Amino acid sequence: MRATRLFVQTLKEVPKEAQVASHILLYRAGMIQKLASGIYNYLPLALKSLRKIENILRDELNKRGCQEVEMPVVQPAELWQESGRWNYYGPELLRFKDRKGGDFCLGPTHEEVITDMARRNLKSYKQLPWNLYQIQTKFRDEIRPRFGLMRGREFTMKDGYSFDVDEEAALKTYQLMYEAYTAIFTRCGLKFKAVDAATGAIGGDKSHEFQVLADSGEDMILSCSKCDYAANEEKARTKIGEALVDPAQFKALETILTPDKKSVEEVAAFLKLPVERFIKSMIYLVDDEPVLVMVRGDREVNEAKIQAQLRANKVELAPDAVIEAVTGAAVGFAGPVGMKKKIKMVADHMVAGIVNAATGACKSDHHIVNVNSGRDFTPDLIGDFIKTKKGEACPKCDGVLEEFRGIEVGQVFFLGTKYSEKMKCTFIDAAGAEKPAVMGCYGIGVGRTMSAAIEQNHDEHGIIWPMAIAPYEAVVLPLQMNKDEVVKAGETLYAELLAAGVETVIDDRDERAGFKFNDADLIGYPVQVVIGGKSLEKGVVEVKIRKTGEKKEIPVAEVVKFVTEFKEAELAAK
Ligand code: ATP
Ligand code: MG
Repeated sequence: MRATRLFVQTLKEVPKEAQVASHILLYRAGMIQKLASGIYNYLPLALKSLRKIENILRDELNKRGCQEVEMPVVQPAELWQESGRWNYYGPELLRFKDRKGGDFCLGPTHEEVITDMARRNLKSYKQLPWNLYQIQTKFRDEIRPRFGLMRGREFTMKDGYSFDVDEEAALKTYQLMYEAYTAIFTRCGLKFKAVDAATGAIGGDKSHEFQVLADSGEDMILSCSKCDYAANEEKARTKIGEALVDPAQFKALETILTPDKKSVEEVAAFLKLPVERFIKSMIYLVDDEPVLVMVRGDREVNEAKIQAQLRANKVELAPDAVIEAVTGAAVGFAGPVGMKKKIKMVADHMVAGIVNAATGACKSDHHIVNVNSGRDFTPDLIGDFIKTKKGEACPKCDGVLEEFRGIEVGQVFFLGTKYSEKMKCTFIDAAGAEKPAVMGCYGIGVGRTMSAAIEQNHDEHGIIWPMAIAPYEAVVLPLQMNKDEVVKAGETLYAELLAAGVETVIDDRDERAGFKFNDADLIGYPVQVVIGGKSLEKGVVEVKIRKTGEKKEIPVAEVVKFVTEFKEAELAAK
């Protein structure tokens, strides 16, 4: 490709909204343009890199027996009603009507459509396993689209779905996809960590996220200083201490007037009790049913854990009217004792360990003290409902948890039969019984992967592409366009590099050397072949490696060999 023909306009200034390196550099290198919030044009350089990522995906998936399909972006509501998600998927799901009044949505993910596709073909256990994927446009009406392609509204996802005869086989497929993802992100030149993850709106029991380590990441990861334990903060656990509770110490309940004191800290100061003696009692709507969630006064409720443990589709704080109806008191005085309506109660492990606790009395302006789990109330479920913090004990060993930021580039989910049961995606097993297929699903954001690669590989001058996903692998820079021998040497090397299979750009623009160098660094070609009149007289050209900044004088006759060997070595490096 000739720079004079390349559909690229590099920029010095970028819109203020671009704050992270990848967003700024994608704009500056002329790779993307914004059409609307979270919706972008991909220009040629971006598309070339995205296609390379897609081809790495295809390669690693196809060789593991996955098959590519393509499903529509527009999906009928009926399928979402069948799975139950039409009601639960929030406003990220863009819904609309067609001219006949039928309800549709733009696919944010494709569990429903693929389960429908599979059930139409599935009859016997002999047909399984199936592992199908697509690379396709998704739409999620994100509340805060930002960071360019990292969190767009319209974006490209590789989404894959597996169907197995039983749990054992499905877990093997999950492992196979975990390995595929590890191979894919390694080939894309990323430094990443696979971490234990919550399953959110997709559902299922087991999940890992592939997190690229970067300060600009939106996710918080907790990982052990000693062992391999690592989890998203939504899922991260700490060691559960043994609660040594002696009922002989239990005192009699007492209701105390606490006017104008609402927060745990205010009431604790008023009652002269440490916040650790408090039970923070919160009422949530879990799939529209009120549930009392209790955590120790100094801890925060983790909504993702409520969703996971109650196997819910939707968790939100209850509105004031619900709280008042359930407790029979004003907001701020909920507690497990004396509730007007009997609702489900769940408690964090730590709550069961508090002796003579204080909490809301279900009476306006009152708190109750000397409350004891087991004597005064019995939770329906005791589990882990808190946000784990850095510095806490690792749940697996005697290490402590450290915190780092990550960009989630991919996620694998073990779904079980969540969709296949609801949507009757069944088969006849060897014994003649009808069984639901056991499913998994696996997603990778293609644009987010490219952005994450830039976050990890750039400097103050521009992008430093990993070879495998670089839009072009090399650039030839003839510095003096008015010197015939320079132009000629440039054209010859350009033709030879192309013939050797190196994707090359020649910067044939009549511009100053400094201008060409700046653009080459900004666009991030892994190799720059610099042709200047003086070095040509010595029979050499200068080759610069963008990654290291290293410059080498190479005899003209050896340039192609040098560049191809460097390219192969980079592609082979793991
Ligand atoms: P997030 O938590 O970041 O919103 P998610 O967990 O909802 O993402 P998944 O449903 O797991 O996303 O989707 C699979 C992959 O698709 C993600 O790992 C990510 O790489 C990509 N992805 C998800 N949402 C977006 C988005 N808004 N823009 C770009 N890529 C996205
Ligand atoms: Mg995810």
